[in-house]
Amino acid sequence: MKQRIKNTILVVDDNNTNITILSNLLGKKYDIMIAENGKNAIEIAKKQALDLILLDIMMPDMNGYEVCSILKSQSNTRDIPIIFISAKSDEESIEEGFKVGAIDYITKPFMSLELLARVKTQIKLKCLVDNLEYIASHDEMTGVYNRRKFFQEATKSFKKLKNNLYAIMIDIDKFKKVNDTYGHSVGDKVIKMMTETVKNNMIEGSILGRIGGEEFALLCHVSNEEEIVKNLEEIRLAVEMCKVEIDNKITINFTISGGMAKSSKDTNTLDLLLKKADKAMYEAKDTGRNKAIFR
Ligand code: GH3
Ligand code: MG
Ligand code: MG
Repeated sequence: MKQRIKNTILVVDDNNTNITILSNLLGKKYDIMIAENGKNAIEIAKKQALDLILLDIMMPDMNGYEVCSILKSQSNTRDIPIIFISAKSDEESIEEGFKVGAIDYITKPFMSLELLARVKTQIKLKCLVDNLEYIASHDEMTGVYNRRKFFQEATKSFKKLKNNLYAIMIDIDKFKKVNDTYGHSVGDKVIKMMTETVKNNMIEGSILGRIGGEEFALLCHVSNEEEIVKNLEEIRLAVEMCKVEIDNKITINFTISGGMAKSSKDTNTLDLLLKKADKAMYEAKDTGRNKAIFR
């Protein structure tokens, strides 16, 4: 049977009894992490993939509202849903909880079944949102970033790193012929194998996206020009060695052409850098294919 991965909940409370009660209640269904103060909670939230935070309000040093505000202001923790669990049951306190970004508010003493139901609802919503975000940002066939996400991530990287950034464009050679000769499903297999090969050989940390049918872009950050030139050549050779099987009978090979450009004064936007790499790629096509050109 397929193993179900448990969702993770962070329980934040300065009181050990409260922690024990919540851990016992939720521990069977969820993985529970514990933080006894706000500072600790923020540290854990930055490092761990959390599906929900149950947050106490009255705690020494930093209260729950402050913790929630901080988590909601930072991009890597913003999307974790937070439910306040507090003995403060007046309307203003509850309103403040929602104002600082909580998704729900449960007053103490709580009813176990109600808490479990509210937690279940929020976990379900979080899973749905995560799934939608994945679908909206990844190419279904290859699993790499789609065009939109590639540009989003590459833009962020470009703004941060500008120097020593390299853009690579890759396009399968004579791919139309593969489709025309062996059919579209074989063409799909070629695209998938090509993507796997690029993923397995690219420099770690590179951003890879499918930006067109059989066109892929990479943004790589390396300090050494030789390293990236060598890497693109390795990718090209690895693709050349690929074999796609057709009906367990014959195998076919395929090749790619690549173009690469380094960020500089004349490529001071991501768009210009990618255009330069694209031009180099077309030069590789025009001068024989199955090669990589660096401009
Ligand atoms: P070149 O060497 O100049 O790149 O020639 P090419 O035949 O590879 O280029 P062209 O742009 O003429 O053809 C690309 C083809 O890729 C056309 C399109 O139908 C096909 N294609 C695009 N996306 C997919 C896909 O997801 N699956 C399959 N099987 N084919 C696709
Ligand atoms: Mg407390
Ligand atoms: Mg092509």
